[in-house]
Amino acid sequence: MDLGIAGRWALVCASSKGLGRGCATALAREGVNLVLNARGAEALAVAVAELKTAFPAVEVRAAAGDVTHPEIREALLALCPQVDILVNNAGGPPPGDFRNWETADWHAALDANMLTPIALIRAVVDDMAERGFGRIVNITSGAVKAPIDVLGLSNGARSGLTGFVAGLARQQRLAARNVTINNLLPGAFDTDRLHKTLEAAAAASSSTADRVAQQRRAAIPAGRFGTIDEFGAFCAFLCSGQAGYLTGQNLLLDGGSFPGTF
Ligand code: NAP
Repeated sequence: MDLGIAGRWALVCASSKGLGRGCATALAREGVNLVLNARGAEALAVAVAELKTAFPAVEVRAAAGDVTHPEIREALLALCPQVDILVNNAGGPPPGDFRNWETADWHAALDANMLTPIALIRAVVDDMAERGFGRIVNITSGAVKAPIDVLGLSNGARSGLTGFVAGLARQQRLAARNVTINNLLPGAFDTDRLHKTLEAAAAASSSTADRVAQQRRAAIPAGRFGTIDEFGAFCAFLCSGQAGYLTGQNLLLDGGSFPGTF
């Protein structure tokens, strides 16, 4: 299926690796020009080079830096002739016990997983409505639907973003102008972050990362972790011309892990 977005521009935050990279690759495959971002300049340069080689017809630009910093967001926006597609993403907050978290820990989580996406949405959404096309996808977490105790910072901050988006996406001045805003909720995907959490779980239980991974896979109805290509393909569909009637939704990609009917 031709997704009808060739030639458009996408800003994909936190995209040198993992889920963001999966989204960038899938959009490039559809002929979408890209602005990429990550803090580590070296891995970002590698991602840009690989995407340019794989998709020579597509323009790929990038700015290294922390997306939670306003000056980096400005630099990213300045690289995009216009933002037709915005994929909001950043690293997730660390696990822990809320008894040990100070206000600064909460502020950092809110900055990365709520206020930064809102700032970028604010910067682009009215221009999208003016032009009559816009697709915004926020990468959040399955923990928004089924909270994970040790990820309280993530549960809290991402729920704040989710509540805000639920209202904004339904504004007629956006929805009736072909601007959609949706959240993608990953379950367990095979990325560096997942491997770090498996290693931490192994260290905490005197097990090995392989054994913990095996147990995690066995607990997923699909029997495996998701791939960044699967995640990216779904994101690209949400950004397609065909997905204009799909807005304000929280879409769970978790191999069947969430045990509810809805
Ligand atoms: P990942 O494999 O660690 O990749 C994260 C990417 O984001 C890297 O390119 C990283 O590059 C970049 N990044 C991180 N923080 C950034 C920041 N502040 N500014 C700019 N770039 C930043 O992680 P992932 O698994 O793709 O996870 C992406 C998001 O999905 C996270 O919020 C995570 O909590 C959430 N999530 C993931 C899973 C999963 O199973 N993978 C499940 C639920 C939720 P640099 O480090 O160089 O900046």
